[in-house]
Amino acid sequence: MGSKLSVNNHRSDVIGLTYIYPVLSRRAGGLSIGINFNTNNTCNWRCVYCQVPNLTIGAAPPIDFDLLAKELRLFLDDVLHGDFYDRFGVDADKRVIKDIAIAGNGEPTTLKDFARAVGLIGQIATEAGVFPASDYVLITNGSLIHLPRVQEGLKILNDYHGQVWFKFDSATEAGRKLVNNSSQSCLAAVENLLIASQLCPTKLQTCLFDFAGRGLPDSEKLAYLEILKQIKNHSNVHRIMLYTIARPSAQPEAGQLAKLPAETMEAFAAEIRALGLDVSVSV
Ligand code: SF4
Repeated sequence: MGSKLSVNNHRSDVIGLTYIYPVLSRRAGGLSIGINFNTNNTCNWRCVYCQVPNLTIGAAPPIDFDLLAKELRLFLDDVLHGDFYDRFGVDADKRVIKDIAIAGNGEPTTLKDFARAVGLIGQIATEAGVFPASDYVLITNGSLIHLPRVQEGLKILNDYHGQVWFKFDSATEAGRKLVNNSSQSCLAAVENLLIASQLCPTKLQTCLFDFAGRGLPDSEKLAYLEILKQIKNHSNVHRIMLYTIARPSAQPEAGQLAKLPAETMEAFAAEIRALGLDVSVSV
């Protein structure tokens, strides 16, 4: 304890808890409380920019619900009524819980009891008075949303006025393979996106970066815009969030990755806006 919590300090063990980690989020403009189900650093994808150390292919282990509940109650009490902000030197204007985000070191929907966990977090945060003022966010690669057990979780998330941030980095089969090491087709991803948006407000999050000097290829831009044209009248996708890599990848490809220039990001955002969609850019 005692270290200053900064936007660069995303260590999940900074407060010594198993499932909970604080992030002073530039994105959120305050405290984001992360929930990590993937304590074994597992995901069903392997994105080349992934920051999870020792990432392995797999699923989240069974969760200790008593421990999750205990940690969340204790941590919320520390933030709301204790000296958490003082201990970590959080600036006065950042002393607000912006969101509770199910994210962590892997894909959270691989958790078998995902729906129960979503409900438990929602219940505890509501009892503590954090919801509905703060956002409830699920950050997911969306690859398992066709599964009924995941859809059940999204319904519960929606009951707590939550939102889904759906990873969609490429609209080409080659791009998805290259960037996400995902075998899921683009068509299947779009089908899952439509399901998600019918169950819960959904935003697209798209990571754009320079991989081995290829920049942002026209083929990728065109395919992405084409998908957006197809879905914009058939889905409840509220917003597109474009971002570029901010911290070093923990994957072997790390040395081949670079941020995209802000001008490139903004120019692409303008093309998306021209379709009538709401876009944010984070560089
Ligand atoms: S989906 Fe997320 S956790 Fe999984 S490999 Fe990609 S960035 Fe890492």
